Amino acid sequence: MAKTELRIRVFGDAVLRKKAKRIPQVTDVHRGLLSEMARLMYAANGVGLAAPQVGINESLVVIDTGTSGLFKLANPHIVKREGAQAIEEGCLSVPGVSVKVKRAKRIEVAAVDQYGKAVRIEASDLLACVFQHEIDHLEGKLIVDYAPFFKKLKIKRQLEMLSAQSKNEPVPEPETKSGKLQL
Ligand code: ZN
Repeated sequence: MAKTELRIRVFGDAVLRKKAKRIPQVTDVHRGLLSEMARLMYAANGVGLAAPQVGINESLVVIDTGTSGLFKLANPHIVKREGAQAIEEGCLSVPGVSVKVKRAKRIEVAAVDQYGKAVRIEASDLLACVFQHEIDHLEGKLIVDYAPFFKKLKIKRQLEMLSAQSKNEPVPEPETKSGKLQL
């Protein structure tokens, strides 16, 4: 796939609901994808991006919350969780919607880096939240799935509009409001 074809997919696009495939070996193609994903994430003022969000059904994520550097990872999964927190989360694939999501406060993630080396990462607070959000994307899960009943009613129309857009028209640039967490 040509790099220029990558664009952020929006709610309604079927790729966002697929379980991402595990990567048996990290290659130059994956390294190229990770770089392009990082570029798109920064361009959209995001702090995390998972491959399904750019239409790639593979287990790759990039994360940069501004405090721990840029993570480029394949096959990330959570091996330990502790505590609880709830942060209001936005998502580049669900523009205009935010949901307060209850997640673990501290986690340990096992993954492989862009050179195929096994790594373990301990994350807490915001970074832990972002890891859990991106790993959800690899499972086909979105923040709207966590919305309580009344919130679901409130965002129903917006989701219908996004869904119609993603099916019929070129996807608009995600709306990024400064100060809002976009992942
Ligand atoms: Zn997201």
